[in-house]
Amino acid sequence: MTVPWREIADRVWIRRYESLDQTIGVIGGEAGLAVIDTRATHRLADELRNEVRALPGTLAAVVNTHGHWDHAFGNARFFDVPIWGHVRCAAMLRERGEAMRVECMERYPTNADDFRAVEITAPTDLFEDRATLELGDRRVELQFLGRGHTDNDIVVTVPGASVLFAGDLLENAPSPWFGDGYPQEWAITGQALLSLVDGVVVPGHGEPFGRDFAERQVADIGELARLGVEVAAGRLGADAAVRLSPFPADETLEAFERVRLEAVDGRAERD
Ligand SMILES: [Zn+2]
Repeated sequence: MTVPWREIADRVWIRRYESLDQTIGVIGGEAGLAVIDTRATHRLADELRNEVRALPGTLAAVVNTHGHWDHAFGNARFFDVPIWGHVRCAAMLRERGEAMRVECMERYPTNADDFRAVEITAPTDLFEDRATLELGDRRVELQFLGRGHTDNDIVVTVPGASVLFAGDLLENAPSPWFGDGYPQEWAITGQALLSLVDGVVVPGHGEPFGRDFAERQVADIGELARLGVEVAAGRLGADAAVRLSPFPADETLEAFERVRLEAVDGRAERD
């Protein structure tokens, strides 16, 4: 079996999948392998597990970068190792997993049976701010930097390897996905993420990139949030704001709605 793993740093591999243009990572240490994200269905998770066997070492742990279906619906197929994730990643799967399943079955009718078969499984090893995986001779750092693409995105770094796994906080695609996002906080979380970048950034979807691309996308998210605030405050029309936005119109309008909800949340918290 030839598996197109690419070693992007010492014992840090990525695998690009055509499906959803998804990028999966594996980090290796003397005590085994940690896999980053479990894919969208049991069939795709089994394919991943089988391919991981081509890498040196046994499977030791799995990490969910966040609770979206395409990153965590494969969890049940990794039941025999700890599954790490943010506390709200577990909450998202418990509270919204079934709704995500229904959406997937509607959006991908030819794969409806695959989604129906998913045993929605929350991560088992939870943390709020940070956690460290010990893989023998090396550590893997998991950090929550603030809300962004969801309320539970974490970043994964390996000290000394100059690689940062960003989950969907950054995407090498026309646009990140804002439907569950917190654009104003995302811009701040993005700055915290940039402070950890010292080499390659691996997004949840698409080809890895360097610091320049990451800085540009974080700046674009900041500009989008700023425009959204102007629209929410009635100081700028939505049409004009869409023309000024660094992202496509549909994504921009979705983000503006999320900015509006952020403002409502903020008021609720102050009351
Ligand atoms: Zn996502």
